[in-house]
Amino acid sequence: MKKIVKLLVANRGEIALRIMRSAREMGIKTVAVYSEADRQALHVRFADEAVCIGPPPSAQSYLVMDKIIAAAKQTGADAIHPGYGFLSENEDFAALVRKEGLIFIGPSPESIELMGSKLAAKAAVAKFNVPLVPGTSEPISDLVKAKQIAKEIGYPILIKASAGGGGKGMRIVEAEPDFETQMERAVSEAKSAFGDGSVFIEKYVTQPRHIEFQIFGDQHGNVVHLFERECSIQRRHQKVIEEAPSSVLTPELRKKMGEAAVNVARAANYYNAGTVEFIVDENLNFYFLEMNTRLQVEHPVTEQITGLDLVKLQIKVAEGEKLPFGQADLKITGHAIEVRVYAEDPANNFLPDIGTLKTYVRPQGHGIRVDDGFEQGMAVPFYYDPMIAKMICSDSTRERAIAKTIRAIDEYEITGLETTLGFCRFVLQHPAFTSGNFDTKFVEKYFKPEVLQSKGSAAEELLAALLATMPRQQHSLETNATPAATHWKKNRS
Ligand code: ADP
Repeated sequence: MKKIVKLLVANRGEIALRIMRSAREMGIKTVAVYSEADRQALHVRFADEAVCIGPPPSAQSYLVMDKIIAAAKQTGADAIHPGYGFLSENEDFAALVRKEGLIFIGPSPESIELMGSKLAAKAAVAKFNVPLVPGTSEPISDLVKAKQIAKEIGYPILIKASAGGGGKGMRIVEAEPDFETQMERAVSEAKSAFGDGSVFIEKYVTQPRHIEFQIFGDQHGNVVHLFERECSIQRRHQKVIEEAPSSVLTPELRKKMGEAAVNVARAANYYNAGTVEFIVDENLNFYFLEMNTRLQVEHPVTEQITGLDLVKLQIKVAEGEKLPFGQADLKITGHAIEVRVYAEDPANNFLPDIGTLKTYVRPQGHGIRVDDGFEQGMAVPFYYDPMIAKMICSDSTRERAIAKTIRAIDEYEITGLETTLGFCRFVLQHPAFTSGNFDTKFVEKYFKPEVLQSKGSAAEELLAALLATMPRQQHSLETNATPAATHWKKNRS
């Protein structure tokens, strides 16, 4: 066992800060790396030391392995945490860190490599009886053969890039006549995005829910799961609201899926934090989708319902410690919801809306956690992911957590750019969401930009109702009684 003394965080923004905070609580010194665009960033100010690693584009800074290793050597760091994104799922980076005699806070390069290929991952987990979406187990390039297989599986089908990620290289084929064009598109998209044109075919699950399990393993063969996260509210195949637990899992199904998730981890000889993603159909059949071999953006909802600090656990496991609990020791307490606050315009196809945070006031109060990397007056850089913050609200029940999240959204004050806050508020109030009866098609089915402008907040509606009952002359109340609830709306000023 080797105690970590100084940790370099090879990331930026909220996740870099979140990791450093836990490290500091453990008495570990922290090193930040930053690009020229991030000189004033909060993670740089928070760290004990900071090293500039190059120009703003990540290909010249956060993605350059040698610069990060050099920064670690220069500062005498003995471990590297990759966060999520950037180099976190790059097996060559994990191997290089190890070769340089440093500790990589994450799984082995071998596990990362195995799970980096969707097909290799499927083959490995099939041996452990983990349910898979019906489909091909080999890459396929022969059109005639591919068409035949698609017919056997039954339309609609999905063509996926084996090296895929971020929703890229995926094509739905509704019926046979479209097969050829969609296949050609998928192959060329996969080639240009991943430099690897191999694709495979899967049954397209209609009305799918995306439910994932947090797993944790140590280097002594112990693996547990820390329950599920429901991540079906997505735009562009990317998550925007997550919650734990899921409202559709019974204790029996949770146990079954949790065991499957642990088996996926075992199939990859996995240690440290990982996420096993499942797709769940309308009859609650579940199928393995893929495993993410890193800390996930939405890990805080799991922390809120388990009371654990996943980063501290990651560090301890990387030092060689055994997991301090077994499966039977873990339980779910309460409910947590995360909304991702992106600098995006929901009224304009969720396109990034980069700018300066003219006003930035976080919500406060019981059960509210905001993980961010910004302060009022700072600009959201154009070079990186436009996520401003993650707001996580926890309470004893799902209903209370929803009410708290809405209250907190109304308290959140952001001006200077458009954000996803108003969109998230719309989702949280929607009967499909509150009833728990929703899937990954939520945005397609229910969201139109008009809903953001026309729908008043609960507080406004209440006020309007109140005013309607008052004699006319008292209406002057209206001007100085505008509720805080309008902050997230048309606020580009
Ligand atoms: P990526 O690695 O590109 O994120 P995933 O395999 O994780 O790709 O899938 C991303 C999303 O696409 C899932 O969350 C789900 O919404 C949808 N999806 C993936 N596979 C299927 C499938 N077989 N049927 C229906 N939807 C799917």
